[in-house]
Amino acid sequence: MSKKNIVQLNNVSKSYPQGDEVVYAIKNVSLEVSKGDFVVITGRSGSGKTTMLSLIGGLTNSSAGICEVFGVNLQDVEDEKTSEIRAKKIGFVFQFSSLIPTLSALDNVKLPGVFTKQPVGEARAKELLDWVGLEKQYGRYSAQLSGGQQSRVSLARALANQPELILADEPTGNLDIETELEMMELFKEINKTKGTTVLLVTHNPELAKFGNRHLVMENGLISEKMINGSPEAVLA
Ligand code: ADP
Ligand code: MG
Repeated sequence: MSKKNIVQLNNVSKSYPQGDEVVYAIKNVSLEVSKGDFVVITGRSGSGKTTMLSLIGGLTNSSAGICEVFGVNLQDVEDEKTSEIRAKKIGFVFQFSSLIPTLSALDNVKLPGVFTKQPVGEARAKELLDWVGLEKQYGRYSAQLSGGQQSRVSLARALANQPELILADEPTGNLDIETELEMMELFKEINKTKGTTVLLVTHNPELAKFGNRHLVMENGLISEKMINGSPEAVLA
């Protein structure tokens, strides 16, 4: 695998038994993601997007094929190693912000430091919350934040450990259009200014323009959208 590839999937499948049959969530998917890419994967509900991110994040194992992340074949290593990669190099953002309700916004952002044993300092956590526009909400609990604000906190939290890769699963799925676009601009800014690689999946094809690559999933298969031999989103 090329050194520049942060993610490399070779003929990866993930299947589930269903009665006497086997159902494929992902079928023979091959994908290379280079450092600095902002890949947007679109596809309908049930097309395999979440499964794809779970495999790359090491949250589930493939049924067949090779899944390499940061040069590590996830099948070859113990769960502990996968957890370490996840904690140190990957930031996750989910549709429902998954904040800990009993922690303030600030403490939620500091949380990843607990898992890496490299504390996220107060100043850094505040800086991240300022960046997502929540300078006045440090002490608020999720119940006291709007959906858009919760999404912002989870983005700030995903960045706390300065991850090299962000995996985002429908991060704007429950937001109004205006807030959705603001969130997407934040992803774009991190990608541009820090060179952080972003892999974002969504059912909304309109969001493809924020990335430099657009892939489409359909029934567990993936294909790259190209125009005149170049990835579509780059031309947008
Ligand atoms: P998406 O995120 O695009 O909506 P998913 O990756 O969640 O799609 O699911 C893809 C397909 O795999 C769906 O048909 C879903 O029902 C199936 N699937 C996902 N996870 C499981 C599971 N744990 N057990 C059985 N089937 C699953
Ligand atoms: Mg999903």
